[in-house]
Order: sequence, then structure tokens, then C-alpha cells
Amino acid sequence: MSAEQKSVVITGVSTGIGRAIAASMAGGGWRVFGSVRKEADAASLRAELGAAFTPLIFDVTDADAIARGAETVRAALGGKTLGGLVNNAGVAVAGPLRYLPLEELQRQIDINVYGPLRVTQAFLPMLGADRRYEGEPGKIVNISSVAGRLASPFMAPYAMSKHALEAFSDSLRREMLVHGIDVIVIGPGAIATPIWAKADEIDVEPYKDTEYHETLNRMRALMQEVGYAGLPAEDMGKLVLGIFGNPKPRARYTILRDKFRMWTLPSLLPKRLLDRALAKRFGIKPRAKA
Ligand code: NAD
Repeated sequence: MSAEQKSVVITGVSTGIGRAIAASMAGGGWRVFGSVRKEADAASLRAELGAAFTPLIFDVTDADAIARGAETVRAALGGKTLGGLVNNAGVAVAGPLRYLPLEELQRQIDINVYGPLRVTQAFLPMLGADRRYEGEPGKIVNISSVAGRLASPFMAPYAMSKHALEAFSDSLRREMLVHGIDVIVIGPGAIATPIWAKADEIDVEPYKDTEYHETLNRMRALMQEVGYAGLPAEDMGKLVLGIFGNPKPRARYTILRDKFRMWTLPSLLPKRLLDRALAKRFGIKPRAKA
């Protein structure tokens, strides 16, 4: 590692957005520590990114494994600060709240909320919260979603987790002023990654005899369409590299196609108007008033 080369830790780099961010940061001259859960993914990333890439093997729900990953990074930094942490690893749990098994919500929150918190706590000292590290403090980039601000029907677990991540990020940014560690949120809309293919695996069978069966089938089809029409993951890679190169980044970025229709307008609409627009989109038929 050259004296000026900066290092970044990125979670969930095996596929999709994380992988694209890892490639973009390595291409931009950064040393990348990327978390994966399988040896095979570590090997394929090493082959793709070469010496710039070091795999860390951890699940974001496993504090001991995260601590081992942090130790690998600490040893490699040689007393210099870590330039960045990207909390990207995440999953999307769907299902109507009326019938949602609580364990499903727990799994969602454990990965998407406690996960980034565990990882952040492990790396904050190296990012500059421990003043014995030399150099500029680092930046944290949290990958939220449009769902971090707007909650669709049937995506409550995911939207709840991303709303929580937004609050976590805002509080953390304010707390980290004391250390000069910046915290930036990215709220992407649809990005074409394997996360959308997983929508096809959503099991609608448990809802067969409920008021939502038809609607959920429709939602599954809609998610496929939206996902495939999403922006390429490379756009996220470019955005993150740009944020790390920017001395004055914004606190939050939104990135998606058709931004006015999919983000600006829904954010401005009165909630009850948005309720109706979403009901129409998802095929939810409001009960007629007596
Ligand atoms: P993806 O499924 O391709 O990637 C998710 C990554 O997280 C994978 O590397 C996976 O191995 C990892 N991961 C999942 N559970 C983990 C766990 N318990 N511990 C460690 N790693 C774990 O999906 P993606 O679309 O690239 O998603 C990346 C992030 O972007 C997620 O936080 C997602 O919520 C967010 N996001 C995606 C989109 C989109 O349209 N694709 C939109 C908004 C936000």
C-alpha cells in the first residue's frame, strides 16, 4: 500500500451495487476491503480487482466475525485512518403487515439496521474517532433507498428498515461532528441488481386465502418490471467514488430514472393523494363507504 493510498471498507460486495462500488473505488485508486460471506465470492473478486482488493468474511449479523474483519483492516492500515466505510449490505423483506410473521421483520431489521450499526461501531475508531490514527477522518456512506422516505404497501419491513437507517444516519452525522467524520446517505430508486430477481422468490402461497393474494401477484410482476428497467449498478459506483472525492458532499443523494415521477412528485403529494395513486398502481380496491 503506497503512503497516500486511501482505504475503504464496503459491505456486501459479492453482487449488485456493492460489487459495482468496489470496482469503481478500486479503479479510482482506493484500496478496497469488501465483505462477502462465501470464499467463492472472495476469490472471484480477487480475480476481478487484483491487489487493490482484500476480502473480509463476515455476515453483518455476526459481531465476532465483524470484529475479526476490523482487525484485518486495522493491521493493514499501519496507524493511518480509514478513508471510508460504505454500509451497503442489505436485503428486502416484503409482506402485508396484517399477516407478517414478526421473525421476518426481526430478520429485516437485524440485517438492514443492526447490521450497519454493528459494522459502524467496529470501524469508527479507524475512521478517526480514535485520535491515535493519523490522517484525515473518513466518511461513512449509508445505502438507503427511496423506501427510506416513502413507504409502499407490502414493503413495510424494508421501508421500516430504511427509514430507520435514515434516522441512524442523521443522528450519527450530528454526533460525529465532534470527530469530523461525515455521514452521507444515498437513496437509490430501482437499480438493476439481483435483489429484484429475489422478488420472484416471494412466496405468495401463505396469502392464498387472503384479501391480498391477487394484489401480491401483481406486485411481484411489477417489481420485476421496475427492477429490470433500473439504472445500471455502475452509476452507483460512480456516485460513491464522486462523493469520496468531494470535499463538500451533500448529506443525502437520490438517484433514479424518471426522478420527477418516481421521487419528486410522490414526496410532494399530500399523503392521501399518494395513498390513492399507490392503491391504483398496486390494484388495491378501497372499500366503498356505506
Ligand atoms: P444484492 O442482493 O445484489 O446485494 C446485496 C448484498 O448484501 C450482497 O452482497 C449480499 O451478499 C449482501 N448481504 C445480504 N445479507 C447479508 C448479511 N446478512 N450479511 C452480509 N452481507 C449480506 O442487492 P443490491 O441491489 O446490490 O443491494 C445493495 C443495497 O442497495 C441494499 O442495502 C439495498 O437495500 C440497496 N438498494 C438497492 C436498490 C435496487 O434497486 N437494487 C434500490 C435501493 C436500495
